[in-house]
Amino acid sequence: MMLTRRKWLAATLGGMQATAQEPRRPNIILIVLDDLGSGDLGFMGSKDIPTPHIDALATSGVVCTAAYSTHPFCSPTRAGLMTGRYPQRFGYENNPKFDRTNEVLGLPLDQRTLPQVLQASGYRTGFIGKWHLGATPAHHPNRRGFDEAFGFSGGGHDYLRQGAAEESDGDLIPIDRNGKPEPVFPGYLTTAFTREAVAFIKKTPSRQPFFLYLAYNAPHSPLQAPDSYLQRVRHIPEGERRTYAAMIAAADDGVGATMEAIRARGQEKETLVIFCGDNGGPASDPKTSNGVLRGYKGQLYEGGIRVPYVVSWPGKIAAGSRLDYLVSTLDVFSTACAAAQIPLPDTPRDSVDLMPYIQRLVKGSPHTMLFWRHFEQVWAARNDNWKLVRRKGEAAELYNLTEDPSETRNVAAERGDVVDRIWAQVERWNKGLAPRRF
Ligand code: CA
Repeated sequence: MMLTRRKWLAATLGGMQATAQEPRRPNIILIVLDDLGSGDLGFMGSKDIPTPHIDALATSGVVCTAAYSTHPFCSPTRAGLMTGRYPQRFGYENNPKFDRTNEVLGLPLDQRTLPQVLQASGYRTGFIGKWHLGATPAHHPNRRGFDEAFGFSGGGHDYLRQGAAEESDGDLIPIDRNGKPEPVFPGYLTTAFTREAVAFIKKTPSRQPFFLYLAYNAPHSPLQAPDSYLQRVRHIPEGERRTYAAMIAAADDGVGATMEAIRARGQEKETLVIFCGDNGGPASDPKTSNGVLRGYKGQLYEGGIRVPYVVSWPGKIAAGSRLDYLVSTLDVFSTACAAAQIPLPDTPRDSVDLMPYIQRLVKGSPHTMLFWRHFEQVWAARNDNWKLVRRKGEAAELYNLTEDPSETRNVAAERGDVVDRIWAQVERWNKGLAPRRF
């Protein structure tokens, strides 16, 4: 058969493309722990909770020491993780109530998500764990960019049982696999999520890159752990903290198993892993440790929003590194897109690709300023070593975090110049936000 020159060229080049060894794009794994005290991991200074696998992940890459979530609550931070935008820009600054029918109560459907972007570019995408971005069918992870989804849609779940679909409340809804309720509860929930994460990795063809969002609800309430994990932390006096520690130990095993699944594929150098908390540890239920930081979940003091944050990519990031500049959970979006060689969507992002900063190709801080707004009642901003916190109708507080990491000495009266400069930027940022949707 004779081929025209154009067809011959097309066939030849097509064949060349098929056989050329293009570098494989990296797998991307995002692991989130829920309501984790920032001082409750080994590498963050915990003395009583053993987290060898998370510590090993931290040692393998870079620890971001000034990293923040976008909100002191679970759901808005996740909205920021999935979109790379301050969730307040689209009116998202509270946890939505669990509701199967109200489409206002979830991540707005016009917001393009990271898994949608990665999926469209050829990534296999998997969600496992706590979604908390809306409970209606339109908000389901499968409809928001994930090929595979296993978990639950609310803000928390019982770790040991589930109810029947018809009668369940948010904490007891049946675990969902791709839109269908699991007929049988899959066992201790943290361990089940780990099992699913490993299965997802194993099932992905080795040439195809994947994105895995492993969102453990551990160690969020309710406080429940099997005896095997309680035994592992039996050095802690019996009580809430022992159970909390056991829940973290189970999640730590999950991180270990996930990394082992990557090693088994020989893809350590082809896998970018980001690990972070979603907000600070809560004040009670149980008493968590936020280390030296002031405050707890729900507050805009450091204890509510500063989170453990690790980025690992062997071969690209030097083991044992540290980044002391401002980093946000919003940055997952751009970092992932850049790693996957995907040009960012046109919509304005608040997210920064961290890799050039981590690799010291770019000097300075990924962010000049970071901002927070909680329920249109409290604002905060971080600029360099300064932290401003202001409640509606009250005077601003100002802290110098280099000298005073625990925010004990309000220096607003002495440094009115700094207060005015930062507050002017907060006001400008605030003008670009939408009213609260719920
Ligand atoms: Ca949380």
